[in-house]
Amino acid sequence: MVQSYEVLTLLNFSVEIYLRDQQVSIEVEYSGKASKPGLRYRKGVIKLVLPEKGCFNPEKIILDNEDWVLDRWNEAQKFREKVPERKFEDGASIETMGTERKLVVEKRQSNAVEDDRILLAQHLIDQTCLKDQLEKALRNHCREVIHRKLEAYVSRVDGDYEKVFIRDQDTRWGSCSSKNNLNFNWRLILGPDHVLDYLVVHEIVHLEIKNHGQTFWERVEELRPDYRKSRDWLKQNNAKLVFDSNF
Ligand SMILES: [Zn+2]
Repeated sequence: MVQSYEVLTLLNFSVEIYLRDQQVSIEVEYSGKASKPGLRYRKGVIKLVLPEKGCFNPEKIILDNEDWVLDRWNEAQKFREKVPERKFEDGASIETMGTERKLVVEKRQSNAVEDDRILLAQHLIDQTCLKDQLEKALRNHCREVIHRKLEAYVSRVDGDYEKVFIRDQDTRWGSCSSKNNLNFNWRLILGPDHVLDYLVVHEIVHLEIKNHGQTFWERVEELRPDYRKSRDWLKQNNAKLVFDSNF
């Protein structure tokens, strides 16, 4: 079948293709920055990035890289199986810091996170939607929890942090800048408590040691003797920290 891709220039689309009897879906994206075609894999999605200028046949590029694409496709299937199905509706529940909390929509001033419930204000949901308000409530909660944990650990290292930012990054869970500003991914709140502790300790030790050398990990271990358990959890379960399965 002859297909013309020229008409689709600058529009992103996806290609469904059979590779060794497996139907594989690949997103195609045009980029002004790309100088040559490139295949990327991230968070369960395979993407083919094409330069804006030039004429390329996506199917040929995919077929030329069949082995790589199939390996990533299998990885993507495993990732997607682990992503939790979340219901963004009144009465549903969501696990945060290892505890199931029920979503309750009611007339109230502002959103709040309690021990076993997340209370969402009806008038705020009316302005946006439940999912957005839940994200806001969880981000705020994450900020409070992280500040509490930072205070608990910071006196144990030689250094102090400046600002704390709660962000939404695809692949990073935390970082410490050269100016000692700390960044944390709010979606950590969707994981167990010990993983949050580990991330806080990891970034706080960076106030003292900027690299990931042996001394760094020794200091992390002093503050969190079982940090390996948390680090492994994060590596194996990062799909569980996806907020919306329709990513
Ligand atoms: Zn680090």
